[in-house]
Amino acid sequence: MPARLQHKVALITGSGSGIGLESTLLFASEGAHVLATDINLQAAESAAALVSQRYPDVKVKAIKVDVGKEADIKAAVDVAVKEFGRLDIMFNNAGIMHPEDDNALNTEEKIWDLTMQINLKGVWWGCKYAILAMRENKKDESKGLKQGGSIINTASFVAILGAATPQLAYTASKGAVLAMTRELAMVHAREGIRVNSICPGPLKTPLLMEFLNTPEKKERRMVHLPMGRFGEAIEIARGALFLASDDSTYVTGTDFMVDGGLTAAYVTPV
Ligand code: NAD
Repeated sequence: MPARLQHKVALITGSGSGIGLESTLLFASEGAHVLATDINLQAAESAAALVSQRYPDVKVKAIKVDVGKEADIKAAVDVAVKEFGRLDIMFNNAGIMHPEDDNALNTEEKIWDLTMQINLKGVWWGCKYAILAMRENKKDESKGLKQGGSIINTASFVAILGAATPQLAYTASKGAVLAMTRELAMVHAREGIRVNSICPGPLKTPLLMEFLNTPEKKERRMVHLPMGRFGEAIEIARGALFLASDDSTYVTGTDFMVDGGLTAAYVTPV
């Protein structure tokens, strides 16, 4: 099977762990040149080192990017275009779930603002600078490259389902990512720029496992999971690969659920 991202250039945020790390490796395995970015530079560099070791034919670079800073995102897109020639795929994946994020009464404004800064504004800025770069992409039939590009924004199942274990700012930020993504998809559809959300279910990544740090907390969720297990980051990366590749050329504005059936559930198997 030919590589699905051959000659394409991808920028991934939150490359140092979980979904971002698995996507960095998977996209590179499919032939993409990857700019691996993270607020934790060391983690991004480790991801890039793994890529170089496993896939020596692709170009990879790691840089520090705090998605809560517009200037960082602009600079990262500039680096991708300068070093790799274009930007075909923007995966706005980085996000936080703050331990002090709670219900309407207990969540402090500073936690709300920080969550929105990273999870929502960060995605907006990622879309903004990706769109500007993707508008410059020229079709290159010899390499199978198209005009436009694919933007993937990581939302969450909590954008669709209410939880009695609240993280109000996180949930609101992810709901806004879905709404914003749909509108961007409409505005840019005729420019060949596809914009989709991916909605992971609960995963075995540090983000959730550090939060569900007791068997009781895990069990409180497990009963609602139709498959009886948390998801793996690689299972989300495979969904992102579909949205990134030309396998999804007629897919835009979608809320792509990769949640083990969670949002389809009423009564789950025992
Ligand atoms: P993770 O904690 O394993 O990885 C997140 C990465 O993002 C880390 O490397 C971290 O350093 C980086 N990061 C944090 N703040 C950043 C910032 N300001 N700028 C740049 N990088 C930053 O998390 P994950 O589970 O892979 O989550 C990735 C995305 O998936 C997030 O948007 C998260 O909300 C979403 N998500 C996760 C789950 C889950 O259960 N894990 C479920 C639904 C959605």
